[in-house]
Amino acid sequence: MRDFSGALRQMSLNTATVRRQSDLLGIIEACARHGIPAISPWRDQVAAVGLGNAGRAIRQAGLKLSGYCRGGMFPASGEHLAAAHDDNRRAVDEAAALGAPCLILVAGGLPQFSRPGSHASKDLGGARTMIEDGIGRLLEHARTAGLPLAIEPLHPMYAADRAAVNTLAQALDIAAKLDPGQTGALGVAVDVYHVWWDPDLQAGIERAGREGRLLAHHVCDWLVPTKDLLNDRGMMGDGVIDLPGIRAAVEAAGYDGLCEVEIFSNHWWSEPIDAVLTTCIERFQTVV
Ligand code: ZN
Repeated sequence: MRDFSGALRQMSLNTATVRRQSDLLGIIEACARHGIPAISPWRDQVAAVGLGNAGRAIRQAGLKLSGYCRGGMFPASGEHLAAAHDDNRRAVDEAAALGAPCLILVAGGLPQFSRPGSHASKDLGGARTMIEDGIGRLLEHARTAGLPLAIEPLHPMYAADRAAVNTLAQALDIAAKLDPGQTGALGVAVDVYHVWWDPDLQAGIERAGREGRLLAHHVCDWLVPTKDLLNDRGMMGDGVIDLPGIRAAVEAAGYDGLCEVEIFSNHWWSEPIDAVLTTCIERFQTVV
């Protein structure tokens, strides 16, 4: 397993971690100041400062990217289906323009939550079919752009509203069906927050490595109790996830890319940006 205790060569910061403290340009400046070598920005943060400005600032600061957040939310009905596809194509183009190594896909849940205004449905199986169709359609555009897509399975508590892809095995099955040649165009993101509970996690990580699908590794922690389904992720070391155990498995399966700190937390959003980044770095070096 790689040694993270010294230089921060493998650390990336998901910019949502400090989204309430600063705009993207301020976050880029803070990362450079703290010696964090990479980020994964969100589309809304990029849009707020302009794609050109974001790209320039990233290059000038010498930052790498570990991904671009995010595409997806595929289930939709009526005109929302075409709008979803167009929106996802734009996400691919933005990621390619920024030089991101992959576009993270949060697949979407039931149509009325994925794309508000869509017809309400309880057909989760149907939503999963729409997810496959949507990824399949987007894959053609992503291949042309030379931009890999990373399906991120989400914890099943988000199945209704955020992602009906809930395990690594399910994500890998979709990838195998849509990209049977294992071309590198379609893979998975292993976010510890979403997969730590899965009894088949080890097998899933090994399979992802074997099939050449490991595109991203995200870390935070699972707090007990969790007070908010979306915005109470823990700082690494404050919860119950075996972070070194999962990282060892991911690296043994062949992943040698950046390790991305991604914390959506009402608590950490209320702290000063420098305190948050200092804590992220210290924990990255000691408990990840
Ligand atoms: Zn993630």
